[in-house]
Amino acid sequence: MADEMNLPRGELMKGKKGIVTGVANHNSIAWGIASQLAAQGAELALFYLPDMEKRVRPLGESLGVATMAPADVSDDASMQAAFDTVGNAFGSIDFFVHAIAFAPRDQISGSFVENATRQGFLTAMEISAFSFVDCARRSAQLMPNGGSIITLTYMGSERAIPNYNTMGVAKAALEASVRYAARDLGPRGIRVNAVSPGAMRTLSLAGIQGGRAMLAKGRTLSAMKEDTSIEGVAGCALWLLSDLGRSTTGEVVHVDAGFHIMGFVEDEEG
Ligand code: NAD
Repeated sequence: MADEMNLPRGELMKGKKGIVTGVANHNSIAWGIASQLAAQGAELALFYLPDMEKRVRPLGESLGVATMAPADVSDDASMQAAFDTVGNAFGSIDFFVHAIAFAPRDQISGSFVENATRQGFLTAMEISAFSFVDCARRSAQLMPNGGSIITLTYMGSERAIPNYNTMGVAKAALEASVRYAARDLGPRGIRVNAVSPGAMRTLSLAGIQGGRAMLAKGRTLSAMKEDTSIEGVAGCALWLLSDLGRSTTGEVVHVDAGFHIMGFVEDEEG
């Protein structure tokens, strides 16, 4: 995906420093966002799940990223160490990208009601929603001059999408957390928003039963009859994270070729 990206270069982020989480490989949405931010002059730090180190370090190096730290959002000590690393390297930051989600496989397949388990539900909520609140608190401490925080959500928070199940519930909690965080942090000049892309071909999508169908339906049921582009998602992130996004906070911005606006879809006869 990265090789095919066509990202505008410029200086929108010149002088701005921040953290991008959630790069697992070159298909990750976070990788598209990191590449776009770097192409606009941002200085980046990357946080990665410790298991992903071998894949992430070369990617970061290819963007000239010097600060990379392992950070497992379920482990407070690793989160503290990662934020300390960035605090020592950058002093303060201007932006933070949360691109992290996880649910056990049985929580994202088949029947929501039959398959939801106490532990599976709590795991999805912890990794996919609580982690955002924790990251917002920690990153805001590094933003004495204001800043911008974004997360990634999906329309399964608003509508019941086959198989998305517990993750849809976690995304609804995530979007509500965006609004509450925006309210808390607004007086400190910190904006908080979510980007809601259509289905995209990543590791996370591969973990969802019927992920390929989500991709295909996302295209055929969209207003534009096309896939969501990584350039469009990264461009929206750039808008929200740069000064172009001034005055926008607490928002969920859909970047899905118009999938979320569609009501009835014509059958083949129209
Ligand atoms: P991805 O698999 O590339 O990224 C998910 C990331 O979460 C990985 O980098 C993984 O290492 C990280 N992660 C999981 N558990 C973690 C933990 N305990 N601590 C730290 N990191 C952890 O897939 P992606 O599709 O790029 O996902 C990024 C975000 O975009 C997710 O929030 C996802 O729900 C969201 N999203 C994806 C799609 C899609 O169709 N792919 C659509 C809308 C929203």
